[in-house]
Amino acid sequence: MATERDELTSYDYRQTRARILAASDVCIVCGHGASDAVDHIHPASKGGARRDPDNLAPIHGVAGCLVCLRKCNSEKGNRPLAEVVQLHTSVDWFAGP
Ligand SMILES: [Zn+2]
Ligand SMILES: [Zn+2]
Repeated sequence: MATERDELTSYDYRQTRARILAASDVCIVCGHGASDAVDHIHPASKGGARRDPDNLAPIHGVAGCLVCLRKCNSEKGNRPLAEVVQLHTSVDWFAGP
């Protein structure tokens, strides 16, 4: 059985990553450009498709985002994207009473 590490270093993964980053490098977590990694929108460990390009999106990898300095990929971790994005939008700081 392939481990996550095999998955991330495989030729297939690098090919897919290159293709996705060529189409867009806007990070799915913070919304800034210059992503250097891709991540599963629906975590593979939770049943998401590992190799399906539709389930992969640009994200800031280990170097983090140069604009907001967030480590988007480690912030997201193994959680579904909806959960991560919600963490930052559930409080509407500008909402009036
Ligand atoms: Zn980001
Ligand atoms: Zn950012």
